[in-house]
Amino acid sequence: MSLGVDLSPDKKRCNFDCVYCELEPSKPVTFYDNPPSVSEIFEEVREAIFKFDFDVLTITSNGEPTLYPYLDSLIEKLKTLNKKLLILSNSSTIDSPKIQNALKKLDIVKLSLDAVTPLVFKRIDRPAKGIEIQNIINGMIEFRKVFDKELIIEILVVKGINDKEDEFKKINEVLKKIKPDRVDISTIDRPPAYNVKGVSIKRLFELSKFIENQNIFIPTREGIDFRIESLSKEELLKTLKKRPFTDADIKNIFDEHTQRLFNDLLKENLIEETWVGGVKFYKALI
Ligand code: SF4
Repeated sequence: MSLGVDLSPDKKRCNFDCVYCELEPSKPVTFYDNPPSVSEIFEEVREAIFKFDFDVLTITSNGEPTLYPYLDSLIEKLKTLNKKLLILSNSSTIDSPKIQNALKKLDIVKLSLDAVTPLVFKRIDRPAKGIEIQNIINGMIEFRKVFDKELIIEILVVKGINDKEDEFKKINEVLKKIKPDRVDISTIDRPPAYNVKGVSIKRLFELSKFIENQNIFIPTREGIDFRIESLSKEELLKTLKKRPFTDADIKNIFDEHTQRLFNDLLKENLIEETWVGGVKFYKALI
């Protein structure tokens, strides 16, 4: 269970204006005007601890939480509560040593990377002037060197913008350098700020095949309309070696024969379980 802490409760404050944002479209801003104080936020969280049962405290915002000017002090205070701390960031500030220094104190850092090609990045995330994708990528690579806890990269796919194989092949090359613990691939599931559409779950799965040797999590599995049929033992091991699967993947994508085979391989200890950011993955050992 997770509890969210919103660092911009009164209005949207973001340096992106993503086409898929679930908040209203708005001109990007690069700083928080009139932010809540650290003590105000901390007191509210402390009260929430008595009311709600949760394991993870998620630092989030109606916008971009790393723009909050007292982020480092807030993280220091929140750490005293002895909860797992997670941040959801659009990655725009990850090339800043000050932000890296603050985020490395957290347990889980989840960063967005919707595209790596400058034009595609600008079309989908509509960043404030001066924010360049190459600086973000360099920042992620540097951050990974100093952050040894869970790093999750999230790719949100929008139809006609970043849903091409070519972009995913390029993202794959970048991910090899970033070395995240998990890659989440999702699409639009709430009304977006602009007139854009998501892609099918089948398309997410097809695109995920271009991301090699990563723990891939595709959050929505509802209404999935395709199956992987009757793999042989070798094919199944090869599939799980290349790309670990979650419980939901196995249940929703593999046919009954392949699921039985999977259970046999699990009993034979040819498949191992690993947990990343609260999600269980199965990976072939040979
Ligand atoms: S980064 Fe998040 S809050 Fe900002 S525009 Fe994009 S989706 Fe909206």
